[in-house]
Amino acid sequence: MDQEEFGESEATAWAVDPERVDPDDYPPGAPRVRLMTFGLCDSCEVEVHAEAARALYDGVKCPHCGDQLLAPVEEPEEWLRRLLRQEDELQEQL
Ligand SMILES: [Zn+2]
Repeated sequence: MDQEEFGESEATAWAVDPERVDPDDYPPGAPRVRLMTFGLCDSCEVEVHAEAARALYDGVKCPHCGDQLLAPVEEPEEWLRRLLRQEDELQEQL
Protein backbone atom coordinates (compact mmCIF):
# COMPACT_ATOMS: atom_id res chain seq x y z
CA MET A 1 0.00 0.00 0.00
CA ASP A 2 1.17 3.50 -0.86
CA GLN A 3 2.02 5.44 2.30
CA GLU A 4 1.05 8.79 0.83
CA GLU A 5 -2.30 7.45 -0.30
CA PHE A 6 -3.07 6.18 3.19
CA GLY A 7 -2.14 9.56 4.67
CA GLU A 8 -4.67 11.29 2.48
CA SER A 9 -7.57 9.07 3.48
CA GLU A 10 -9.83 9.97 6.34
CA ALA A 11 -8.39 8.21 9.39
CA THR A 12 -11.37 8.31 11.75
CA ALA A 13 -15.11 8.80 11.59
CA TRP A 14 -18.16 8.58 13.84
CA ALA A 15 -20.51 5.67 13.23
CA VAL A 16 -23.29 8.10 14.14
CA ASP A 17 -22.91 11.56 15.60
CA PRO A 18 -22.43 11.49 19.38
CA GLU A 19 -25.48 12.31 21.48
CA ARG A 20 -26.30 15.89 22.29
CA VAL A 21 -25.22 17.04 25.75
CA ASP A 22 -27.60 18.99 27.95
CA PRO A 23 -25.62 21.99 29.24
CA ASP A 24 -27.64 21.73 32.48
CA ASP A 25 -26.07 18.32 33.06
CA TYR A 26 -22.52 19.22 32.06
CA PRO A 27 -21.33 22.79 31.53
CA PRO A 28 -19.31 23.30 28.34
CA GLY A 29 -15.65 22.51 28.98
CA ALA A 30 -16.36 20.15 31.85
CA PRO A 31 -14.77 16.70 31.59
CA ARG A 32 -17.31 14.03 30.85
CA VAL A 33 -17.09 10.24 30.84
CA ARG A 34 -18.44 8.20 27.95
CA LEU A 35 -17.13 4.75 27.22
CA MET A 36 -16.27 4.41 23.57
CA THR A 37 -15.58 1.61 21.19
CA PHE A 38 -14.52 1.41 17.57
CA GLY A 39 -14.44 -0.87 14.57
CA LEU A 40 -12.00 -0.96 11.67
CA CYS A 41 -13.17 -0.74 8.08
CA ASP A 42 -10.46 -2.24 5.88
CA SER A 43 -12.11 -1.14 2.63
CA CYS A 44 -12.27 2.52 3.64
CA GLU A 45 -9.14 2.48 5.84
CA VAL A 46 -11.02 4.18 8.62
CA GLU A 47 -11.44 3.72 12.35
CA VAL A 48 -15.13 4.08 13.08
CA HIS A 49 -15.82 5.30 16.60
CA ALA A 50 -19.05 4.93 18.53
CA GLU A 51 -20.40 5.44 22.00
CA ALA A 52 -20.26 2.00 23.62
CA ALA A 53 -23.83 2.24 24.94
CA ARG A 54 -25.20 2.73 21.46
CA ALA A 55 -22.94 0.09 19.92
CA LEU A 56 -24.45 -2.49 22.29
CA TYR A 57 -27.79 -2.10 20.52
CA ASP A 58 -26.86 -1.10 16.99
CA GLY A 59 -23.33 -2.45 16.59
CA VAL A 60 -20.97 -0.23 14.61
CA LYS A 61 -21.41 0.43 10.90
CA CYS A 62 -18.99 2.18 8.58
CA PRO A 63 -20.56 5.54 7.64
CA HIS A 64 -18.82 5.43 4.24
CA CYS A 65 -19.65 1.96 2.88
CA GLY A 66 -22.28 0.77 5.36
CA ASP A 67 -20.42 -2.42 6.31
CA GLN A 68 -21.29 -3.81 9.74
CA LEU A 69 -17.96 -3.65 11.59
CA LEU A 70 -19.18 -4.72 15.04
CA ALA A 71 -22.32 -6.71 15.68
CA PRO A 72 -24.84 -5.71 18.36
CA VAL A 73 -24.49 -7.79 21.55
CA GLU A 74 -27.04 -10.29 22.80
CA GLU A 75 -28.98 -9.12 25.85
CA PRO A 76 -27.80 -5.51 25.63
CA GLU A 77 -29.83 -4.47 28.73
CA GLU A 78 -27.51 -6.32 31.07
CA TRP A 79 -24.43 -4.88 29.35
CA LEU A 80 -25.96 -1.40 29.40
CA ARG A 81 -26.61 -1.54 33.14
CA ARG A 82 -22.96 -2.43 33.76
CA LEU A 83 -21.70 0.16 31.31
CA LEU A 84 -23.76 3.01 32.79
CA ARG A 85 -22.61 2.03 36.29
CA GLN A 86 -18.98 2.19 35.12
CA GLU A 87 -19.52 5.57 33.48
CA ASP A 88 -21.05 6.90 36.72
CA GLU A 89 -18.16 5.59 38.80
CA LEU A 90 -15.60 7.09 36.49
CA GLN A 91 -17.47 10.40 36.32
CA GLU A 92 -17.38 10.63 40.13
CA GLN A 93 -13.62 10.17 40.08
CA LEU A 94 -13.09 13.26 37.91
ZN1 LIG B 1 -16.19 1.37 5.01
